[in-house]
Amino acid sequence: MIPTIETIPLQHLASGDYLSLQFYKFVGDRLGKKVYLQSNLHGGEIAGNVVLHRLMEWLGTLAPSQLVGELWVVPVCNPAGVNVRSHHYASGRFESYSGHNWNRIFWDYEKKGANIQAFAKSQLELEPRIIQQNFRHHIQQQFLQLRSEIDAAASVPFHEKYRYVLQSLSLDADYVLDLHTSSDLGLTYVYYFRDRQDSAPLFLLEAGILLDDYDGDAFDEAFIKPWLALEQCFTELERPMRFEVEAYTLELGSGMQIDSEAVDRGIRGIQNYLITKGVLDLSDFPRITPPPMRLVPRNKQRRYYAPAGGVIQSRVPVGAVVEAGTILYELLRFSKDGAMPTVQAVQAQQPGVVFDAAISQIVNEGEYVVGMLED
Ligand SMILES: [Zn+2]
Repeated sequence: MIPTIETIPLQHLASGDYLSLQFYKFVGDRLGKKVYLQSNLHGGEIAGNVVLHRLMEWLGTLAPSQLVGELWVVPVCNPAGVNVRSHHYASGRFESYSGHNWNRIFWDYEKKGANIQAFAKSQLELEPRIIQQNFRHHIQQQFLQLRSEIDAAASVPFHEKYRYVLQSLSLDADYVLDLHTSSDLGLTYVYYFRDRQDSAPLFLLEAGILLDDYDGDAFDEAFIKPWLALEQCFTELERPMRFEVEAYTLELGSGMQIDSEAVDRGIRGIQNYLITKGVLDLSDFPRITPPPMRLVPRNKQRRYYAPAGGVIQSRVPVGAVVEAGTILYELLRFSKDGAMPTVQAVQAQQPGVVFDAAISQIVNEGEYVVGMLED
């Protein structure tokens, strides 16, 4: 399979240069689902680029008859974030101009005062397939109105133009996969949404976190929230239905580095997901029965912040399973009162697994040290 490659300009710079976006469209012989995959929305989170490259190489060995539908692949999807450097460090989590987190900028139809209840009532007698088509069309009609603001003389801030480009590629997808890593050191895990707990383990990662409360305006959330709201409306109207629309954020290990094990897990999980969903018709591909995945709601994610400034030593490794009372790390504290430095042990409040840790081992008071998924 050979993809169609399209390049679109993103931002004209003061120097006269352009930032552009390039994406790859694989189209199968048969009509089916549209899958949208992107990586590197946060500039320092690069493992997904390698995963998508490997995915595209693998797709190149398949025939169009083996793809049912379309795969749209967007590596390095945020050039403005990718190119940011501070000494040796790739940060790229926030837009340096405005301070916006690049993954909290997206247009969410549900938040824009949409009357989804009225829409659901108007569709009550229709079959789910038609409702899905109608709702998708409805969302897109609202989205397209953003264009006039962008084109107006006053225009809009860059992050609003940028989100318009990415969401115009992905809004009509059935499955959206957004590939991230920790900004620091992390496990491989997937963020999933309500009623999608059967599909989350297909990614074969080390854990799944249910996004039961939202930060707001993340790429996956903005895509799926209107659909979850529509499902909720139909439940209230006593005609429950679950649309075959899904969005996931895959977290593939640590930032600013390529962990080959995380990359292997990422590619294997995406292959398994696409095959199980019937997007790829590969009867002879070795099927993997997902092992039990640790599924936890987001409120079981606890981050530990330094109680004082100092140097972090003897920190438990990412992936460690700990009991309540286990020493998570020691804080070597210096003082200015004529005393010798002291060492303070910080213990786990609850049992669980260490899923993330700060890459820097020197902190001021209140800075992030380590993250746990609690049992
Ligand atoms: Zn990220």
